[in-house]
Amino acid sequence: MMTMIAKRRASLPVKVGGLTIGGTAPISVQSMTNTDPHDLGATVSQIESLANIGCELVRLAVPDQEAADAIARIKRAVTLPLVADIQFDYRLAIAAIAAGVDKLRINPGNIGGAQRVREVVAAAKDHGIPIRIGVNGGSLPRDVLARYGPTAKAMTEAALAQVALLESLDFQAIVLSVKASDVHRTIEAYRLLAEASPYPLHLGLTEAGLPERGLVHSSIALGSLLLAGIGDTIRVSLTGDPLAEIGAAYEILRALDLRAVGPTVISCPTCGRCQIDLAGLAKEVTEAAKAYKQPWTIAVMGCAVNGPGEARQADLGVAGGKGEGLLFKHGKPIRKVPYQELLAALLDELAKMAAQ
Ligand code: SF4
Repeated sequence: MMTMIAKRRASLPVKVGGLTIGGTAPISVQSMTNTDPHDLGATVSQIESLANIGCELVRLAVPDQEAADAIARIKRAVTLPLVADIQFDYRLAIAAIAAGVDKLRINPGNIGGAQRVREVVAAAKDHGIPIRIGVNGGSLPRDVLARYGPTAKAMTEAALAQVALLESLDFQAIVLSVKASDVHRTIEAYRLLAEASPYPLHLGLTEAGLPERGLVHSSIALGSLLLAGIGDTIRVSLTGDPLAEIGAAYEILRALDLRAVGPTVISCPTCGRCQIDLAGLAKEVTEAAKAYKQPWTIAVMGCAVNGPGEARQADLGVAGGKGEGLLFKHGKPIRKVPYQELLAALLDELAKMAAQ
């Protein structure tokens, strides 16, 4: 198969708890909690839910001392590495480090002057944790904004100025991000940064919006960069439940064959020829397929026009008919099944394939 993906950009590996970002590590998937950071139960439960569906690193907002103190208790209750998101108050960064967080995210646009950064870096060094310099297009440092305006170049320069400061303190456990809400600006900023720096890149589009907009814009931005070989960890920011971000991130990686993430379910859009509830069947098969890790293709097709062709090329497939479906396995038709029994028949075949 011909691939259009460029060779992955070489980046320095950075350890975050038990996870490695960059180097030869797989591109990791991360998210951010949206629970009240003071509500320990809700936060732990959301982190566990994220972990159960494949999240590999999770970020928490740390808006005050109470939230910083809660990190120690959250850490004891969860398995995922935790990132403390710090805005404005460098003392909260130091408190989060003391509480045992695995990584910090600081925003050079609002963390304060070099002396404050020095203190944060000294604490991170003492505890052996990395720092993500997370530039946000909406909160650039004033001097950079005055010099370059609200551009991709400004975002990259803001990141590189912080990199120079951290390197001058003999600190190299660095991850970088340059997120804007605009697709073009985000892509350009990451491209500039990828050329200028060896550190691993956390890809994301910030304030991407509700799922309809956020999924499309994030897929274009992150997909373009990943196709160019750029990116070591990704977050698909969506307004709403962070659990939706994980499936979206894996779909982007799946589309580009960058991570083996279990079966792929393809389904036709349906049209007037379809005589079964194909959308319902496709949804149930997609959910059930999540239990498997094998890279199978499962085709759920509405009728005999394109159905048999797609279903034959898949590891398992169904082509709908009038109140029934024809099952295909490894390219061969195996039997017709009434619609009411189709889901059970497909699940039965999946179990047999797994057993083989
Ligand atoms: Fe329509 Fe059949 Fe194509 Fe589905 S497979 S879109 S039902 S023609």
